[in-house]
Amino acid sequence: MLIAIIIGAVIGSFSHVVGAHQPVGRQWAFRRSQCDNCEHVLTVYELLPIVSYMWQRGRCRRCAVKIERSIVLVEWLGAMSAAILYNVYGFSWAFFLGVILLAFFCMISVADWYYMIVPNQFIGFIGVPIVLIVMFSSSFYEHLLGGILAFTMLYTLHLTTGGIGAGDVKLAFVLGSVVGVAHVFTMFLFASIFGFLFVLLMKKRKIPFAPSLCMATFLCYNINYFEMPWLM
Ligand SMILES: [Zn+2]
Repeated sequence: MLIAIIIGAVIGSFSHVVGAHQPVGRQWAFRRSQCDNCEHVLTVYELLPIVSYMWQRGRCRRCAVKIERSIVLVEWLGAMSAAILYNVYGFSWAFFLGVILLAFFCMISVADWYYMIVPNQFIGFIGVPIVLIVMFSSSFYEHLLGGILAFTMLYTLHLTTGGIGAGDVKLAFVLGSVVGVAHVFTMFLFASIFGFLFVLLMKKRKIPFAPSLCMATFLCYNINYFEMPWLM
């Protein structure tokens, strides 16, 4: 359990870095993390997810600028999500696929939250492999149809309302494939509820929709009522 929590926190931390840097073309790989304000290169002790944030009381140790709250928030979300995955699946293939999904969802959500975009690179390099894994290790047509159904629904909304971005439409194909055709409507129901709650909480009319979609898919994945015997 503790291992699952640590894996989740690290995933959250890493995904936040990728999600916040990649869309604006900032270098994130093969580079030591720095303070965004004073460019102080972080030591090992300042890189621990959640723990470092609490230890430093949310501030940079050198210049005392406040560290963005969203970082520790995503780390906590990652930790909790991995704990849920572990409770549902134990250490199985479903857990590891869930962890990959989790990383994908965190990156997409952070990018959409900051920049209102769902980067094509994330869909291509992580989303497409996920779709292929799910389709070829399970009932192929159920998951293919799920992707097509979710894609078609959001594409219609994209054309008619303008509230849904093109990135959300592509993302919908990945998410629909993950949950399968029988659960696409459930996923959208959850996503609408999350989206509605976000609108209420943020008190803004325009909010990114990808985080709600990701949370809804994660929920469906863990309810575990769709057949994935190949994973158990
Ligand atoms: Zn600093």
